[in-house]
Amino acid sequence: MQDMILLKLGEIVLKGLNRRYFEQKLVANVKRRLTGCGRFDVKCVQSTVYVEPRGDDCDVDAAFEAMKTVFGVISLTRAAACEKTPEAIAALAKDYLREAMLSARSFKVESKRSDKSFPMTSIELSQYVGGELAEAFPDTAVDVHSPELTVHLEVRDWAAYVHSAPVQGAGGMPVGSNGSAVSLLSGGIDSPVSTWMIAKRGVRIIPVHFFSFPYTSELAKEKVLSLAQQLTPWCGRLIVEIVPFTHIQEEIRDRCPEEYFTLIMRRFMMRISQRIADYNGCKALVTGENLGQVASQTMEAMYSTESVVTLPVLRPLIGFDKEEIVTLARRLGTFETSILPYEDCCTVFTPRHPKTHPSLAEVEAAEAALDVDALVEEAFAGIERVRLDVKR
Ligand code: ATP
Ligand code: MG
Repeated sequence: MQDMILLKLGEIVLKGLNRRYFEQKLVANVKRRLTGCGRFDVKCVQSTVYVEPRGDDCDVDAAFEAMKTVFGVISLTRAAACEKTPEAIAALAKDYLREAMLSARSFKVESKRSDKSFPMTSIELSQYVGGELAEAFPDTAVDVHSPELTVHLEVRDWAAYVHSAPVQGAGGMPVGSNGSAVSLLSGGIDSPVSTWMIAKRGVRIIPVHFFSFPYTSELAKEKVLSLAQQLTPWCGRLIVEIVPFTHIQEEIRDRCPEEYFTLIMRRFMMRISQRIADYNGCKALVTGENLGQVASQTMEAMYSTESVVTLPVLRPLIGFDKEEIVTLARRLGTFETSILPYEDCCTVFTPRHPKTHPSLAEVEAAEAALDVDALVEEAFAGIERVRLDVKR
């Protein structure tokens, strides 16, 4: 029997008048993510997105896996549909959940009914189908308190559906429903997680990486591209902007006091990121910064780096402990790549004694010898763009 997929909407259901807008974004994202899995009909009705295969050649397993990373979906399940009669529903439950009923020690039935013209109440339907299942699978006990298997029945407008427990979805809001942002992606553990967290809030992401060849190697760049690739199931297609950063770093090394190297370098990252954001209509910058983690992440240091931009700087990891970040990175699958030992441009020309509590005036004086605008424009002009599609 070929089944379908039901996606339950998360926070979108709390939206008022603009709810349709969020639903349309979600449906568009779902359709895009189904490319390569066969032809499906996708529609959104009553806080549920119905994903129905249109032929036998659809890969429903692959589609179900793909749907687990779509932001905006709070839970998802595979389901089978039938005519809206109690007999048809009971017959379908016996057939469709046969394996699950045979392997569970106990079960219960839960029903929901949005079609109020259906002849039974939800409780009556649960009792009826529960009775039929108990008869067909005498070794599986009824347990309404803590069953191993919950059989879900839904009577909706045009059909009835049978499914077992839903699995957790990606949560968040549909990518693209909350604008776009530039995310500063290093090869470290933190920034893939911060990128993911902001994408989760419905933001389309443009990842930006500062690359200091030959001080950092081709492998370091490959590592960042591979991290970005790992984020595409959630973020959708990404175009990574690789910014040539070597000249800027050499200028800083040659013309600025050593203890300010990192801070000045980070100010350049912010300026160039804002340049990219303006060019692409992005409304915020995202970093993986985390209060107190390193010298450049004290409050004074963050003040001095963000004072060169006007866009909001989003730092979703600001209050996390490293352990919490690592746990998330492992869950996303980026951790193993992040710990590969290639150097980042931050480790090039690292000051022996970095300034941890700089005043803005000090930092500005320290970079006074540089032609900031020309360096920013030169880097911007040399950007290499790499397009990464979601892999099937
Ligand atoms: P991460 O694990 O993300 O590398 P980190 O703890 O190493 O973070 P820093 O190196 O101080 O911290 O960088 C802080 C943030 O600055 C990073 O999370 C990232 O957003 C940004 N960043 C650092 N280096 C780069 C780079 N080469 N390209 C793009 N962004 C960078
Ligand atoms: Mg880093």
